[in-house]
Amino acid sequence: MEWGQSLSALAFKELKLEEIRGAGTWKSERVISSRQGPHLRLAGGGAGIINFCANNYLGLSSHPEVIRAAVEALEKFGAGLSSVRFICGTQSIHKDLEEKIARFHQREDAILYASCFDANAGIFEALLTPEDAVLSDELNHASIIDGIRLCKANKYRYKHMDMQDLEAKLKEAQKHRLRLVATDGAFSMDGDIAPLREICQLAQKYDALVFIDECHATGFLGPNGRGTDELLGVMDKVTIINSTLGKALGGAAGGYTTGPKPLIDLLRQRSRPYLFSNSLPPAVVGCASKALDLLMESNAIAQSMAAKTQRFRSKMTAAGFTISGKDHPICPVMLGDARLASVMAEDMLSRGIYVIGFSYPVVPKGKARIRVQISAVHSDEDIDRCVEAFTQVGRKHGALP
Ligand code: PLP
Repeated sequence: MEWGQSLSALAFKELKLEEIRGAGTWKSERVISSRQGPHLRLAGGGAGIINFCANNYLGLSSHPEVIRAAVEALEKFGAGLSSVRFICGTQSIHKDLEEKIARFHQREDAILYASCFDANAGIFEALLTPEDAVLSDELNHASIIDGIRLCKANKYRYKHMDMQDLEAKLKEAQKHRLRLVATDGAFSMDGDIAPLREICQLAQKYDALVFIDECHATGFLGPNGRGTDELLGVMDKVTIINSTLGKALGGAAGGYTTGPKPLIDLLRQRSRPYLFSNSLPPAVVGCASKALDLLMESNAIAQSMAAKTQRFRSKMTAAGFTISGKDHPICPVMLGDARLASVMAEDMLSRGIYVIGFSYPVVPKGKARIRVQISAVHSDEDIDRCVEAFTQVGRKHGALP
């Protein structure tokens, strides 16, 4: 590249950066100097911070047995494969984990990816042709939106959890060869749960397949933590599940698709993020595999979070706050004003409570909030301290009378 060209590229970059700063949407990153867990140390001070903003729903990210399994896998199988799966990157532990994931979800087969972002990027293009249709909830996760962009199917976007609109779109889509309804099982910004029973009924009526992204459900929703389909009694009606190993299931990294065997066979042949990206590192496989063992041994871990979620939601509501969603450990404290959300989140941190404010464009304008995430490893005292801090900070900044 010529000097002149690279300088103008740099100037463009600078302009973009200023634009992001100017729009107030700059995302800064706090540096943590301890393990992930309910109590954190932040770099440059700040020990004993109570953490309410990780997706560590079951507290398995630093579970001693999960860490030990990672170390054992690292020692036995090495640091990594230096290869994609189909060249020389498949070890016995990858096959074992895929079999375990399929068993956990009671599906025929499963395929691993480096992330659920990749699983979502790889599925729609591999499965759908220009003769097909995909119907997607307007608030689906960015990775589903990107995955759908990559495919050539006809695209329909229905209003968030609006079954009338979905039905209208399904009617319109009857002209296509195949229909796939795609939804998050639980939506991460609102803590609300997709009406899967109704979605499956409509899918049956209009001959469609159902795909769910279970990143915020796998491991803890439903009596045995299988997810939204178990919670709502439709495990036999949902065709395809994509989920992550990077949240409740040990929190390391990785994602997967589980469903009918012919679909998984097709993904192994055609899904680009699977075909052209390195195999999951053994230590990461070890973590997820142990997390699944713990969940399949007993449903106590999956159940342990519900009471804590209930404690937080009811105490905050009694204090005068509005909490979006229902019964989900994602508890968005609705504030409306973007500045209020950001100032209150900062003030909460100064009182030792780590929470994050979200505002436009991450959530709609006028719907700024602080998202609190409950974990099975929070103590009742942690939760009460959080409610107490919210009450003080809310009064100070005018969010409460
Ligand atoms: N889908 C949803 C709903 C998510 O919240 C996320 C992560 O934030 C992803 C997909 C991506 O998961 P991963 O971190 O495994 O790429």
